[in-house]
Amino acid sequence: MDFVSTRGLSKAITAGEAILKGLADDGGLYVPKTFPSLVNMNVSSVSSYPEMAFEVLAPFFKDDKYINLNDLAYICMNAFNFDVPLIQLGQKESVLELYHGPTAAFKDFGARFLASSLETIIKKNNKELTILVATSGDTGGAVASAFYNKAGIKVKVLYPKNRVSERQKKQLTVLGNNIEAYEVDGTFDDCQKMVKDAFMDKDLSEKWGLTSANSINLGRLLPQSVYYVYASHLFRSMYGENPNIIIPSGNVGNSCAAYWAFSMGAPIESIVLAVNANKTIPDYLDSGEYTPRSSIKTLANAMDVGAPSNMERLFDLYGDIDLFRQFVKSYSVSDDEIKATIKKTYDETSYIICPHTACAKKVYETYYKNQPSILVSTAHPAKFETIVEPLINKSIPIPKALDELLKLDGKFTSVSTDYHDIF
Ligand SMILES: *Cc1c(COP(=O)(O)O)cnc(C)c1O
Repeated sequence: MDFVSTRGLSKAITAGEAILKGLADDGGLYVPKTFPSLVNMNVSSVSSYPEMAFEVLAPFFKDDKYINLNDLAYICMNAFNFDVPLIQLGQKESVLELYHGPTAAFKDFGARFLASSLETIIKKNNKELTILVATSGDTGGAVASAFYNKAGIKVKVLYPKNRVSERQKKQLTVLGNNIEAYEVDGTFDDCQKMVKDAFMDKDLSEKWGLTSANSINLGRLLPQSVYYVYASHLFRSMYGENPNIIIPSGNVGNSCAAYWAFSMGAPIESIVLAVNANKTIPDYLDSGEYTPRSSIKTLANAMDVGAPSNMERLFDLYGDIDLFRQFVKSYSVSDDEIKATIKKTYDETSYIICPHTACAKKVYETYYKNQPSILVSTAHPAKFETIVEPLINKSIPIPKALDELLKLDGKFTSVSTDYHDIF
């Protein structure tokens, strides 16, 4: 199937090519030229999540020269090897827990699909790749875990010294082998600049086969549509109604994937973006004027984004403000509300949520109470134990995969902010 750039100046390419390329030459992001219809797919009769993923994604990879349908079936089995539970929390109120992968956040879905896809592509292309990723926390861990021991791929993770949590640092540094961790004597912005500078260095970029694994890569976004198709069908079969889907959002990759599922015909009533105090999108809905800005620090730190990188894809779907207002709902949640919601949810239901998930819960309580809804849970609360535990007065058991990582010793190289240090 054809994928085109949001800026319209690059030629159409296949999904496999877009995954290998990352960004289009005109600086735009790849989007499907048309959406396949779920009506023609077998989604209600499949028995496992990987089979569902195959059914939903197959039309996008039809006639792909890099990833054929046999490859896709293998990639889905390999990438989605963990549970995706839809938990009932209240009357017609469900929580979609997306944190049962190896690094306990939803980013495992995208990172694992991308890693497995690139591994498949490399086998056919015979050219080794180096993934460069700058991280302020969660992304680097998911990428490192997903690419660990993938043949022909080296990963260089850059993180700012003293600015990631101990648990996050472990996730980046304990794996070893093809995963190299670099502790940068600078800020997250310095790390991002080093990545950019390395990509701009054409000779170096060519020699190392540099590729990016951030959330603008189609290979991270496309697989995230699957769980919206899966959960909305499941919800409908349980309650006979289409759910609202409330999504904790930052760079809006996850919500964009929900709109793609909706565009394919998934039984969704409406899609709601829950944001923290970074309220670029609610402000746009209010004023009609889009003003990206610097981010501010909040308790839901993986959503601290003032200029969401996937907005370009949302504008591609709903460019006009009236259309945007019709399909995109978004509300902002403060740090005080996050804390109060974590506590109240635990007191009332014994269910423990992370600060990101608390944003979705608060938006549900305020605007969607008693309407059929799915709240998306993006991370395991044990990843944010320093915030959550004092509020609920209880220690949170750590998921097994995470616990095993935390027992190992990490290795990293200290570097300056000059990108030559990491090659
Ligand atoms: C990355 C992340 C988000 C934000 O997702 P986007 O796709 O950037 O909108 C929300 N919650 C958690 C836990 C995350 O790691």
